Amino acid sequence: MTTKRKTFEYAPAPESRAIVDIKSSYGLFINGEFVDGKGGSFKTISPATEEVLAEVTEATAADVDTAVRAARKAYETVWSKLPGSERAKYLYRIARIMAERSREFAVLESLDNGKPIKESRDVDLPLVAQWFFYYAGWADKLGHAGLGPDPKALGVAGQVIPWNFPIMMLAWKIAPALAAGNTVVLKPAETTPLTALLFAEVCQQAELPPGVVNIITGAGPTGQALVEHPDVDKVAFTGSTAVGKAIARSVAGTSKKVTLELGGKAANIVFDDAPLDQAIEGIVGGIFFNQGHVCCAGSRLLVQENVYDDVIERLKRRMATLRLGDPLDKNTDIGAINSAEQLARIKELSAVGDAEGAERWSAPCEIPDHGFWFAPTIFTGVTQAHRIAREEIFGPVLSVLTFRTPAEAIEKANNTPYGLSAGVWTEKGSRILSMASQLRAGVVWANTFNKFDPASPFGGYKESGYGREGGRHGLAAYLQGASA
Ligand code: NAD
Repeated sequence: MTTKRKTFEYAPAPESRAIVDIKSSYGLFINGEFVDGKGGSFKTISPATEEVLAEVTEATAADVDTAVRAARKAYETVWSKLPGSERAKYLYRIARIMAERSREFAVLESLDNGKPIKESRDVDLPLVAQWFFYYAGWADKLGHAGLGPDPKALGVAGQVIPWNFPIMMLAWKIAPALAAGNTVVLKPAETTPLTALLFAEVCQQAELPPGVVNIITGAGPTGQALVEHPDVDKVAFTGSTAVGKAIARSVAGTSKKVTLELGGKAANIVFDDAPLDQAIEGIVGGIFFNQGHVCCAGSRLLVQENVYDDVIERLKRRMATLRLGDPLDKNTDIGAINSAEQLARIKELSAVGDAEGAERWSAPCEIPDHGFWFAPTIFTGVTQAHRIAREEIFGPVLSVLTFRTPAEAIEKANNTPYGLSAGVWTEKGSRILSMASQLRAGVVWANTFNKFDPASPFGGYKESGYGREGGRHGLAAYLQGASA
């Protein structure tokens, strides 16, 4: 087995953080300005160094109420009265500003989240601008979206997002909501609030009418107060399945419209006729992109048995070249794990993999002395009954299983409580179509993985949630009576 590290030595190439002005403390962004909260505060740190980046306000239920009232007033008095073409102008303005300030946002995102700068710079921020441009284009064409002749907004949207793609998830939530004519109160995750707070400055720069976008910070109780607020018309949540279920229970029996984007345990299926070098890149990108903190990560690799040895050897050889370290270094492939809690979860489930008899192999990386890190890891000899084949690890850990026939691959791929995404690697177009029609997953990628486009709907089956984000479908989630 070739596992020896053959790699170039790269000189450090750190991106300067001078472009970002991080304030020592932040208030809540309500009604167009930063205000003090009524409760306490908490610190946000860099997961790569454990350095405290800023002090952030913990919004109380009273603060949530103030923010929802501001959003309601903005909806009634301004936003719902504007024609779509006027809303579009604001969205285009925001899109342009996000493109102009993307380097600043990318650096801040990598600092607060721990993701490599080449991902925040080349994936997250470009997609953020694309999302705003795309939905800006819809704002004056809602009557042509196939959702009725004159679809109406819902009102105030309460939006709660996770820490893995903080500014991207914000864009996925805010762009369609505003395009459809709603106002929003958004809560970023407690470990990654800084890019959302910088986005508040973008709203000011774009001269968005006060109250159309409100950003409140805090942890679970703040999110709960927001989704349970009686004057919220729409709840949009991305996060864990456990919290998603709690939210579904709390809004049951109310008139609130809900979309839930939850967890996943995607199968990435490699057939023996696949272009293997390309598939290896897809496997690596599928699970190690963003440290595996990806709901649609290809965390279960299904390899056809007759190419298993070859695939594993190539995969280990490729993994040995991955560079782990400073998220701001432009050479870095694998950044920091987002928090001590997430690192503990990854370690715990990996230990379960050992205990259940799977075989662990980790890429030979040096782990920095400070911060939260986990080397890219694969488990072989995994069976469907293993917890590491069933539960979302949400880290750089791949579980490898094998199959002999397409029917067996389908059985195994669908044997999960989730259904967010899947990947198929084969040179046969007919096999791609046949697999895609049988895989119970919201997105099926063929000979690629983790590709996103604002025009393409994204969402899950089963415990991966309900509703779709992106595309025309994503508009329906923010309009009365519409279903895409
Ligand atoms: P989480 O559910 O713990 O937290 C997500 C957000 O919900 C945070 O902002 C948190 O403060 C808030 N929250 C916590 N408890 C709440 C409550 N009771 N009521 C309202 N809000 C509450 O999830 P996480 O650990 O931050 O994120 C990781 C999870 O998100 C993974 O399971 C991942 O698969 C999922 N995810 C899904 C998608 C998708 O599109 N399907 C995208 C990204 C992440």
